[in-house]
Amino acid sequence: PSFAELGLDPRLVQAVAKQSFEKPTLVQRKAIPLALQGQDVLCKAKTGSGKTAAYVLPVLSSILKRKATDPTPFTAALILVPTRELADQVFKAIEEFTAFCAKDIHAAKLTENVSDAVQRSLLANVPDVVVSTPARAWHSANSSAFSLARLQHLVLDEADLVLSYGYDEDMENIARALPKGVQTVMMSATLSAELDALKGIFCRNPTLLDL
Ligand code: AMP
Repeated sequence: PSFAELGLDPRLVQAVAKQSFEKPTLVQRKAIPLALQGQDVLCKAKTGSGKTAAYVLPVLSSILKRKATDPTPFTAALILVPTRELADQVFKAIEEFTAFCAKDIHAAKLTENVSDAVQRSLLANVPDVVVSTPARAWHSANSSAFSLARLQHLVLDEADLVLSYGYDEDMENIARALPKGVQTVMMSATLSAELDALKGIFCRNPTLLDL
């Protein structure tokens, strides 16, 4: 299938075309339709596979769809990544994918190098999507800087590294603060036994994509 045939919002398809992505990669072909259906997905995917678009595009598409009938602003998606560098890359990808719907989707990036004052101003304009490391996300949610109360989509990118960087406690705190029914997409280069713990905390019977 082409990007247009995967069921994504046309404005996202337009942005993908502008980036000269000719056709979806394997992980995109497999993960995007499942994520658009609202399923939990655990996907073995490494850097270079196109994993970022595989989870960002369905999240953005779902938010655009909801906003067409319910424009109330709230943080609907949280994307957790192990490092500031990855947060930068994911945030940049979101900016590119929202080139044709920039006024409808507002994203914020929370990382350790952002001061509390700057962060407050970023969050005052309620972001639809937050990209963050687990520690910063928990710190912010716990201090009421932003709310997880209405979250609908959670993504754990490089989930194996999230664990190896020692974010276990932040992840447990975040898990406890989530409302019921949040859709979780996990991307991981390896499918280790430790991942089963995260899977158990965050996923409801996920579809496994061992590509
Ligand atoms: P990632 O695996 O998400 O780190 O993506 C690796 C690189 O592949 C990024 O620079 C993307 O811009 C690029 N990319 C992602 N999807 C596609 C696609 N369908 N066609 C061509 N390039 C892509």
